[in-house]
Amino acid sequence: MDKKFSKSTLCVQGGWQPKKGEPRVLPIYQSTTFKYDTSEQMARLFDLEDTGYFYTRLQNPTNDAVAAKIAALEGGVGAMLTSSGQAANFYAIFNICQAGDHFVCSSTIYGGTFNLFGVTLKKLGIECTFVNADAPEEEIDKAFRPNTKALFGETISNPSIDVLDIEKFARIAHKHGVPLIVDNTFATPINCRPFEWGADIVTHSTTKYMDGHATSVGGAIVDSGNFDWEAHADKFPGLTQPDESYHGLTYTKAFGKMAYMTKATAQLMRDLGSIQSPQNAFLLNLGLETLHLRVPRHCENAQKVAEWLEANPQVKWVNYCGLKSSKYYELAQKYMPNGSCGVIAFGLNGSREEAIKFMDALKLACIVTHVADARTCVLHPASHTHRQLTDEQLMEAGVAPDLIRLSVGIEDANDIIADLEQALEQIK
Ligand SMILES: *Cc1c(COP(=O)(O)O)cnc(C)c1O
Repeated sequence: MDKKFSKSTLCVQGGWQPKKGEPRVLPIYQSTTFKYDTSEQMARLFDLEDTGYFYTRLQNPTNDAVAAKIAALEGGVGAMLTSSGQAANFYAIFNICQAGDHFVCSSTIYGGTFNLFGVTLKKLGIECTFVNADAPEEEIDKAFRPNTKALFGETISNPSIDVLDIEKFARIAHKHGVPLIVDNTFATPINCRPFEWGADIVTHSTTKYMDGHATSVGGAIVDSGNFDWEAHADKFPGLTQPDESYHGLTYTKAFGKMAYMTKATAQLMRDLGSIQSPQNAFLLNLGLETLHLRVPRHCENAQKVAEWLEANPQVKWVNYCGLKSSKYYELAQKYMPNGSCGVIAFGLNGSREEAIKFMDALKLACIVTHVADARTCVLHPASHTHRQLTDEQLMEAGVAPDLIRLSVGIEDANDIIADLEQALEQIK
């Protein structure tokens, strides 16, 4: 759909563009396979000489319509859906890194990504150096090596709510001839479009705000089409040299700005197969249709709750980038002037046991391993999502042992505050 439309219009109408007599609502193409008239037509698809669907492990029309909507929302040239956010981040890196390669990553990232990058990719021979994203540029420069292939960060980190200085990271990445990959899950394109600040690739756990109703695990990768792979051809042979599994086709030559996305689909999805189910893509699309309405409400509620927590004497600290007291307030104003996200991190005065008692006393806010959906929920990362990490790794990931992650939903803010108040009463 035309890029001139605003994000709100793209949320509602982007992606699926029915032709005469076709369903108005995006259909679920619940089919593993697609029909052709001649053997020759099918053969051309396998050689990437023609575009079309042939097997849902690689591509499916429902998924593609939703991916097109997300690409339009981010201002990218193309996107793909994956079965989860984990798969999206894995593919985003693995599409340009192989055994013997290295990449640099902010240390304050989602626990699952931290593990994927630090432990699992290492087993595949890909090394990751974690850096303090707030360190001066010269400091971060030192982490780069001749075999470094990417720089990675999260717009707003989960769960520490640090804000990434995207322009600084883009400058560093480009100085070293590598793309900047940004996980934009928490900000969503409604609040921030990392491509406008120099990022090259964006990833999402669509499981969070995009779906927004906690129905479907999913992920997405979006390419800005801006990174010049040919200018750094020696670093990215997978994109700039012939792929023998496609009769010696070279992605950059054959697909130009779509080289990265085509390789991710034609090679990684073909071989690793973490496709999102069309059913989940359909549900994701329903979520996207109201993303532009829900995200501002999450932010408005979170701002009220954060201010209330900050004023409460039982609360030791609050980290929310919408608060003036936050060290990320300025960066949040710069990159997300209309609001950041609905997630707040805070700690209570008192012991870890009291924090757990407080969480158990909440009635409206449920304890769940989730974040960023319509219902307010809480989690204690040190005992839940991040329990594999040592205390040292926890601090490095910006997760204090007393950190409570509160994901503020879109209920009435007064009811959320009343719930927190009654739970705090119980640990007085
Ligand atoms: C949840 C999350 C992921 C992982 O996504 P899944 O959909 O759970 O696989 C990655 N990055 C961020 C920032 C997340 O919040």
